Amino acid sequence: MEILDGKKIKDEILDELRNEVNNMQEKPTLVVVQVGNNEASNVYIKQKAKMARYVGYQFHHIKLDDTITEEELLYEIDKLNKDKSVHGILVQMPLPSQINTYKVQNAVLPEKDVDGLSDINTGKLFHGKDALYSCTPFGVMELLKRYKINVVGKNVVVVGRSNLVGKPMATMLINEGATVTICHSKTNDLPKYTFNADILIVAVGKPKLITADMVKDGAVVIDVGINRLENRLCGDVDYENVLPKCSYITPVPGGVGQMTVAMLGKNVLKAYKIQKEK
Ligand code: NAD
Repeated sequence: MEILDGKKIKDEILDELRNEVNNMQEKPTLVVVQVGNNEASNVYIKQKAKMARYVGYQFHHIKLDDTITEEELLYEIDKLNKDKSVHGILVQMPLPSQINTYKVQNAVLPEKDVDGLSDINTGKLFHGKDALYSCTPFGVMELLKRYKINVVGKNVVVVGRSNLVGKPMATMLINEGATVTICHSKTNDLPKYTFNADILIVAVGKPKLITADMVKDGAVVIDVGINRLENRLCGDVDYENVLPKCSYITPVPGGVGQMTVAMLGKNVLKAYKIQKEK
Protein backbone atom coordinates (compact mmCIF):
# COMPACT_ATOMS: atom_id res chain seq x y z
CA MET A 1 0.00 0.00 0.00
CA GLU A 2 1.33 3.43 -0.94
CA ILE A 3 -0.03 6.81 0.05
CA LEU A 4 -0.45 9.19 -2.88
CA ASP A 5 1.29 12.27 -1.57
CA GLY A 6 -0.54 15.27 -3.06
CA LYS A 7 1.64 17.71 -1.14
CA LYS A 8 4.87 16.27 -2.57
CA ILE A 9 3.53 16.31 -6.13
CA LYS A 10 2.14 19.82 -5.69
CA ASP A 11 5.57 21.03 -4.55
CA GLU A 12 7.17 19.40 -7.61
CA ILE A 13 4.67 21.08 -9.96
CA LEU A 14 5.02 24.49 -8.31
CA ASP A 15 8.82 24.26 -8.58
CA GLU A 16 8.51 23.46 -12.30
CA LEU A 17 6.22 26.46 -12.78
CA ARG A 18 8.44 28.72 -10.68
CA ASN A 19 11.48 27.84 -12.81
CA GLU A 20 9.59 28.69 -15.98
CA VAL A 21 8.08 31.92 -14.62
CA ASN A 22 11.46 32.99 -13.29
CA ASN A 23 12.72 33.16 -16.90
CA MET A 24 9.76 35.21 -18.12
CA GLN A 25 9.96 38.98 -18.58
CA GLU A 26 6.27 39.54 -17.95
CA LYS A 27 4.69 37.72 -15.01
CA PRO A 28 1.25 36.12 -15.50
CA THR A 29 -1.49 37.70 -13.40
CA LEU A 30 -4.23 35.85 -11.52
CA VAL A 31 -7.28 37.69 -10.17
CA VAL A 32 -9.59 36.03 -7.66
CA VAL A 33 -13.02 37.62 -7.30
CA GLN A 34 -14.82 36.90 -4.04
CA VAL A 35 -18.38 37.90 -3.22
CA GLY A 36 -19.09 38.03 0.51
CA ASN A 37 -16.97 36.61 3.29
CA ASN A 38 -17.48 32.83 3.32
CA GLU A 39 -15.04 31.34 5.85
CA ALA A 40 -14.05 28.33 3.72
CA SER A 41 -13.57 30.63 0.70
CA ASN A 42 -11.23 32.83 2.74
CA VAL A 43 -9.06 29.76 3.48
CA TYR A 44 -9.05 28.60 -0.16
CA ILE A 45 -8.17 32.09 -1.41
CA LYS A 46 -5.25 32.27 1.03
CA GLN A 47 -3.93 28.98 -0.40
CA LYS A 48 -4.29 30.33 -3.94
CA ALA A 49 -2.49 33.56 -3.02
CA LYS A 50 0.33 31.57 -1.41
CA MET A 51 0.67 29.41 -4.52
CA ALA A 52 0.72 32.46 -6.79
CA ARG A 53 3.37 34.22 -4.68
CA TYR A 54 5.55 31.10 -4.64
CA VAL A 55 5.38 30.59 -8.40
CA GLY A 56 6.00 34.29 -9.12
CA TYR A 57 2.61 35.30 -10.49
CA GLN A 58 1.01 38.65 -9.81
CA PHE A 59 -2.01 38.07 -7.60
CA HIS A 60 -5.01 40.32 -6.95
CA HIS A 61 -7.92 39.58 -4.67
CA ILE A 62 -11.09 41.57 -5.38
CA LYS A 63 -13.53 41.27 -2.49
CA LEU A 64 -17.07 42.46 -3.20
CA ASP A 65 -19.96 42.96 -0.82
CA ASP A 66 -22.47 40.10 -0.66
CA THR A 67 -25.29 42.51 -1.52
CA ILE A 68 -23.83 43.10 -5.00
CA THR A 69 -26.26 42.50 -7.89
CA GLU A 70 -25.60 40.04 -10.69
CA GLU A 71 -25.32 42.94 -13.13
CA GLU A 72 -22.64 44.64 -11.00
CA LEU A 73 -20.65 41.42 -10.74
CA LEU A 74 -20.89 40.83 -14.50
CA TYR A 75 -19.63 44.39 -15.01
CA GLU A 76 -16.56 43.67 -12.81
CA ILE A 77 -15.86 40.47 -14.78
CA ASP A 78 -16.21 42.34 -18.08
CA LYS A 79 -13.59 44.87 -16.92
CA LEU A 80 -11.20 42.02 -16.07
CA ASN A 81 -11.92 40.31 -19.40
CA LYS A 82 -10.93 43.51 -21.24
CA ASP A 83 -7.84 44.15 -19.11
CA LYS A 84 -4.85 42.78 -21.07
CA SER A 85 -2.70 42.71 -17.93
CA VAL A 86 -5.03 40.09 -16.39
CA HIS A 87 -4.45 36.52 -17.60
CA GLY A 88 -6.48 34.35 -15.21
CA ILE A 89 -9.85 35.12 -13.61
CA LEU A 90 -11.30 32.90 -10.91
CA VAL A 91 -14.67 33.69 -9.34
CA GLN A 92 -14.64 31.99 -5.96
CA MET A 93 -17.66 29.79 -5.26
CA PRO A 94 -20.18 29.77 -3.66
CA LEU A 95 -21.93 32.93 -4.81
CA PRO A 96 -24.90 34.47 -2.95
CA SER A 97 -28.36 33.36 -4.05
CA GLN A 98 -29.22 36.55 -6.01
CA ILE A 99 -26.47 35.67 -8.50
CA ASN A 100 -26.76 33.03 -11.22
CA THR A 101 -23.57 30.96 -10.91
CA TYR A 102 -23.85 29.43 -14.38
CA LYS A 103 -24.16 32.87 -15.97
CA VAL A 104 -21.10 34.12 -14.07
CA GLN A 105 -19.00 31.06 -15.01
CA ASN A 106 -19.79 31.74 -18.66
CA ALA A 107 -19.11 35.45 -18.39
CA VAL A 108 -15.38 34.84 -17.88
CA LEU A 109 -13.53 34.76 -21.22
CA PRO A 110 -12.71 31.09 -22.00
CA GLU A 111 -9.00 31.89 -22.39
CA LYS A 112 -8.97 33.49 -18.89
CA ASP A 113 -11.21 30.84 -17.30
CA VAL A 114 -8.58 29.18 -15.07
CA ASP A 115 -11.30 27.27 -13.20
CA GLY A 116 -12.20 25.53 -16.48
CA LEU A 117 -15.95 25.70 -15.82
CA SER A 118 -17.25 27.67 -18.81
CA ASP A 119 -19.26 25.93 -21.52
CA ILE A 120 -16.42 26.44 -24.00
CA ASN A 121 -13.80 24.75 -21.82
CA THR A 122 -16.07 21.92 -20.65
CA GLY A 123 -17.20 21.46 -24.27
CA LYS A 124 -13.58 21.20 -25.44
CA LEU A 125 -12.94 18.61 -22.74
CA PHE A 126 -15.96 16.66 -23.99
CA HIS A 127 -14.43 16.67 -27.47
CA GLY A 128 -11.00 15.66 -26.17
CA LYS A 129 -9.46 19.00 -27.18
CA ASP A 130 -6.78 20.82 -25.27
CA ALA A 131 -8.33 23.50 -22.99
CA LEU A 132 -8.31 24.93 -19.49
CA TYR A 133 -9.69 22.01 -17.47
CA SER A 134 -11.45 21.97 -14.10
CA CYS A 135 -8.63 21.94 -11.54
CA THR A 136 -9.76 19.13 -9.21
CA PRO A 137 -10.34 16.32 -11.74
CA PHE A 138 -7.33 17.55 -13.73
CA GLY A 139 -5.35 17.26 -10.48
CA VAL A 140 -6.51 13.67 -9.96
CA MET A 141 -5.37 12.79 -13.51
CA GLU A 142 -1.98 14.42 -12.87
CA LEU A 143 -1.57 12.58 -9.56
CA LEU A 144 -2.29 9.23 -11.25
CA LYS A 145 0.12 10.11 -14.06
CA ARG A 146 2.96 11.10 -11.74
CA TYR A 147 2.56 7.86 -9.75
CA LYS A 148 2.51 5.96 -13.09
CA ILE A 149 -0.95 4.51 -12.40
CA ASN A 150 -2.26 3.56 -15.82
CA VAL A 151 -5.99 4.07 -16.41
CA VAL A 152 -6.20 2.48 -19.88
CA GLY A 153 -8.71 -0.36 -19.86
CA LYS A 154 -9.19 -0.05 -16.10
CA ASN A 155 -12.56 -0.32 -14.46
CA VAL A 156 -12.96 3.12 -12.87
CA VAL A 157 -15.91 4.05 -10.68
CA VAL A 158 -16.58 7.74 -10.02
CA VAL A 159 -18.99 8.44 -7.16
CA GLY A 160 -20.52 11.91 -7.61
CA ARG A 161 -21.80 13.60 -10.78
CA SER A 162 -21.27 17.31 -10.12
CA ASN A 163 -20.27 19.67 -12.92
CA LEU A 164 -17.27 20.67 -10.80
CA VAL A 165 -15.80 17.20 -10.13
CA GLY A 166 -17.75 14.05 -11.06
CA LYS A 167 -18.70 14.78 -14.67
CA PRO A 168 -15.38 16.29 -15.84
CA MET A 169 -13.57 13.50 -13.94
CA ALA A 170 -15.48 10.82 -15.83
CA THR A 171 -14.89 12.63 -19.14
CA MET A 172 -11.12 12.90 -18.58
CA LEU A 173 -10.95 9.20 -17.72
CA ILE A 174 -12.94 8.17 -20.80
CA ASN A 175 -10.71 10.36 -22.96
CA GLU A 176 -7.68 8.51 -21.53
CA GLY A 177 -9.13 5.05 -22.25
CA ALA A 178 -10.66 3.97 -18.95
CA THR A 179 -13.99 2.13 -18.65
CA VAL A 180 -16.01 4.46 -16.45
CA THR A 181 -19.09 3.99 -14.28
CA ILE A 182 -20.64 7.05 -12.64
CA CYS A 183 -22.59 6.58 -9.40
CA HIS A 184 -24.62 9.23 -7.61
CA SER A 185 -27.34 9.86 -5.03
CA LYS A 186 -29.92 7.89 -7.02
CA THR A 187 -27.71 4.84 -7.58
CA ASN A 188 -29.21 1.63 -6.21
CA ASP A 189 -26.76 -0.65 -4.42
CA LEU A 190 -23.64 1.55 -4.47
CA PRO A 191 -21.35 -1.22 -3.06
CA LYS A 192 -22.13 -3.43 -6.09
CA TYR A 193 -20.36 -0.84 -8.26
CA THR A 194 -17.60 0.32 -5.92
CA PHE A 195 -16.55 -3.27 -5.18
CA ASN A 196 -15.71 -3.84 -8.84
CA ALA A 197 -13.53 -0.75 -9.20
CA ASP A 198 -9.84 -1.05 -10.03
CA ILE A 199 -9.76 2.69 -9.38
CA LEU A 200 -12.40 4.24 -7.12
CA ILE A 201 -12.79 8.03 -7.14
CA VAL A 202 -15.17 9.52 -4.57
CA ALA A 203 -16.47 13.11 -4.72
CA VAL A 204 -19.61 13.29 -2.61
CA GLY A 205 -19.11 15.21 0.65
CA LYS A 206 -20.20 12.53 3.14
CA PRO A 207 -17.70 11.34 5.77
CA LYS A 208 -17.02 7.58 5.75
CA LEU A 209 -19.46 6.93 2.89
CA ILE A 210 -16.96 4.38 1.53
CA THR A 211 -16.24 1.61 4.00
CA ALA A 212 -13.70 -1.22 3.71
CA ASP A 213 -16.28 -3.81 2.61
CA MET A 214 -17.09 -1.63 -0.45
CA VAL A 215 -13.51 -1.71 -1.77
CA LYS A 216 -11.86 -4.47 -3.81
CA ASP A 217 -8.50 -5.79 -2.58
CA GLY A 218 -5.67 -3.90 -4.26
CA ALA A 219 -7.85 -1.04 -5.58
CA VAL A 220 -6.59 2.52 -6.06
CA VAL A 221 -8.73 4.86 -3.91
CA ILE A 222 -8.92 8.59 -4.63
CA ASP A 223 -10.80 10.60 -2.02
CA VAL A 224 -11.90 14.02 -3.29
CA GLY A 225 -14.28 14.75 -0.40
CA ILE A 226 -13.53 17.45 2.15
CA ASN A 227 -15.62 17.25 5.33
CA ARG A 228 -15.27 18.65 8.79
CA LEU A 229 -15.81 16.00 11.46
CA GLU A 230 -15.13 16.52 15.17
CA ASN A 231 -13.19 19.67 14.29
CA ARG A 232 -10.80 18.03 11.84
CA LEU A 233 -10.83 17.49 8.09
CA CYS A 234 -11.68 14.13 6.60
CA GLY A 235 -12.70 12.77 3.23
CA ASP A 236 -15.54 10.52 2.04
CA VAL A 237 -13.56 7.32 2.65
CA ASP A 238 -13.19 5.50 5.97
CA TYR A 239 -9.44 5.98 5.60
CA GLU A 240 -8.09 3.89 8.53
CA ASN A 241 -10.06 0.78 7.57
CA VAL A 242 -9.78 1.11 3.77
CA LEU A 243 -6.01 1.79 3.90
CA PRO A 244 -4.89 -1.86 4.48
CA LYS A 245 -7.01 -3.10 1.55
CA CYS A 246 -5.87 -0.87 -1.27
CA SER A 247 -2.73 -0.52 -3.39
CA TYR A 248 -2.79 3.30 -3.34
CA ILE A 249 -4.86 5.83 -1.42
CA THR A 250 -5.01 9.63 -1.09
CA PRO A 251 -5.11 11.12 2.42
CA VAL A 252 -7.39 14.02 3.43
CA PRO A 253 -5.89 16.53 3.94
CA GLY A 254 -2.72 16.21 1.86
CA GLY A 255 -4.16 14.52 -1.23
CA VAL A 256 -6.45 15.85 -3.94
CA GLY A 257 -6.91 19.30 -2.33
CA GLN A 258 -3.19 19.98 -2.80
CA MET A 259 -3.42 18.93 -6.43
CA THR A 260 -6.31 21.34 -7.05
CA VAL A 261 -4.11 24.29 -6.08
CA ALA A 262 -1.23 22.96 -8.19
CA MET A 263 -3.45 22.65 -11.25
CA LEU A 264 -4.72 26.19 -10.80
CA GLY A 265 -1.06 27.18 -10.96
CA LYS A 266 -0.66 25.22 -14.22
CA ASN A 267 -3.84 26.75 -15.67
CA VAL A 268 -2.66 30.32 -15.02
CA LEU A 269 0.51 29.76 -17.07
CA LYS A 270 -1.47 27.99 -19.76
CA ALA A 271 -4.02 30.83 -19.91
CA TYR A 272 -1.15 33.31 -20.29
CA LYS A 273 0.33 31.31 -23.17
CA ILE A 274 -3.04 30.96 -24.92
CA GLN A 275 -3.50 34.74 -24.78
CA LYS A 276 0.00 35.46 -26.07
CA GLU A 277 -0.48 33.09 -28.99
CA LYS A 278 -3.69 34.84 -30.07
P1 NAD B 1 -21.84 18.30 -4.99
O1 NAD B 1 -22.64 18.42 -3.74
O2 NAD B 1 -22.04 19.24 -6.10
O3 NAD B 1 -22.02 16.82 -5.58
C1 NAD B 1 -22.08 15.71 -4.75
C2 NAD B 1 -22.41 14.49 -5.58
O4 NAD B 1 -22.52 13.37 -4.72
C3 NAD B 1 -23.76 14.59 -6.31
O5 NAD B 1 -23.54 14.31 -7.68
C4 NAD B 1 -24.64 13.53 -5.67
O6 NAD B 1 -25.47 12.85 -6.60
C5 NAD B 1 -23.63 12.57 -5.07
N1 NAD B 1 -24.14 11.90 -3.87
C6 NAD B 1 -24.74 12.46 -2.80
N2 NAD B 1 -25.04 11.52 -1.88
C7 NAD B 1 -24.62 10.34 -2.40
C8 NAD B 1 -24.66 9.00 -1.93
N3 NAD B 1 -25.18 8.70 -0.75
N4 NAD B 1 -24.15 8.05 -2.71
C9 NAD B 1 -23.61 8.32 -3.92
N5 NAD B 1 -23.53 9.59 -4.41
C10 NAD B 1 -24.03 10.57 -3.65
O7 NAD B 1 -20.32 18.29 -4.50
P2 NAD B 1 -18.92 18.52 -5.30
O8 NAD B 1 -18.73 19.96 -5.55
O9 NAD B 1 -18.79 17.55 -6.41
O10 NAD B 1 -17.92 18.10 -4.14
C11 NAD B 1 -17.92 16.80 -3.60
C12 NAD B 1 -16.95 16.74 -2.43
O11 NAD B 1 -15.66 17.04 -2.90
C13 NAD B 1 -17.23 17.77 -1.32
O12 NAD B 1 -16.86 17.20 -0.09
C14 NAD B 1 -16.32 18.91 -1.66
O13 NAD B 1 -15.96 19.67 -0.52
C15 NAD B 1 -15.13 18.16 -2.19
N6 NAD B 1 -14.31 18.93 -3.12
C16 NAD B 1 -12.98 18.83 -2.93
C17 NAD B 1 -12.12 19.48 -3.78
C18 NAD B 1 -10.66 19.32 -3.58
O14 NAD B 1 -9.89 20.13 -4.06
N7 NAD B 1 -10.22 18.28 -2.87
C19 NAD B 1 -12.62 20.27 -4.81
C20 NAD B 1 -14.00 20.33 -5.02
C21 NAD B 1 -14.83 19.64 -4.15
